[in-house]
Amino acid sequence: MSALAAPAPARDSAPPFIARRIADGVYVVPGDTGRGSEGRPNAGFIVTREGVVVVDALASPRQGEALLRTIRSVTPQPIKWLVLTHHHPDHHFGAIVFRRAGAKVIAHPDTRVLASEGGPDALVADWVRVVGLDAMHGFEFADVPDRPVTSADTLRMGGRTIVISHPGAGHTAGDLMVWLPKERVLFAGDLLIEDGVTMVVDGSARELLRSLARIDSLRPRVAVPGHGALPKGPALLVARTRSYIADLEAEMRAAVEKGVPMQRALAALPPPDENRPVSLNSRRRRNAARVYVAEERAWMGLEDSLP
Ligand SMILES: [Zn+2]
Repeated sequence: MSALAAPAPARDSAPPFIARRIADGVYVVPGDTGRGSEGRPNAGFIVTREGVVVVDALASPRQGEALLRTIRSVTPQPIKWLVLTHHHPDHHFGAIVFRRAGAKVIAHPDTRVLASEGGPDALVADWVRVVGLDAMHGFEFADVPDRPVTSADTLRMGGRTIVISHPGAGHTAGDLMVWLPKERVLFAGDLLIEDGVTMVVDGSARELLRSLARIDSLRPRVAVPGHGALPKGPALLVARTRSYIADLEAEMRAAVEKGVPMQRALAALPPPDENRPVSLNSRRRRNAARVYVAEERAWMGLEDSLP
């Protein structure tokens, strides 16, 4: 989630975003790099002879429209499916644009995110403050799946094979990844973030480690993270993310076992940045608190549970 600059108003002929080809018929629409989760997310699309599959819808109807125009600069094929890698607003609040363009939605049916604790109206109100009222013009929720995926599902269309799977509740309970086995391209959603500091506030460290192992086992040639630059070596970003999460887990487990209270266990970390809930400092701090609670529950013999 993030502060997201609206795309500059573009002439109809100029695509507002760049579409970068990463395999035959497979494109990434890169978001912002260097801003962690605060930047515009990456999106993508796969062109087949029978239509287009879009991966993620960006943060607002305005961004969704800009993404749609960018896709239109590459192909006139109908938009058949929109796959949502999860239900955080920065990845799905543009979904209504694709629904209106005729797409059906593939998503995990568990739409819970921490940000919606106050209910959907509060989530939208918060998000309007982030992206602005103009960008949200025409907004409707459009993330309830026409085709729900809770384990794995294979889409075969136009000669392509697209595997959509739920690797676990690492980043959120509704995580999905999109895997192209022939091209060895993975759209990882927010399981991977450019700087390796994946958020587990809405998910769990343990499930994230499982999800990372799943990514490793696919041995992707290209992995598209939810935010930021594509890693030169997908395995390196996976390893970096794993060591961050595994170290955090070990540290918090040790603190719990020694009876160190949470505030003291977190004392070594810089405080979260005010009004920047997903800045690097905020992500590290919030993750640590989330993992401490999970370790405490495990130590007490209780199941960890999602928010
Ligand atoms: Zn997210």
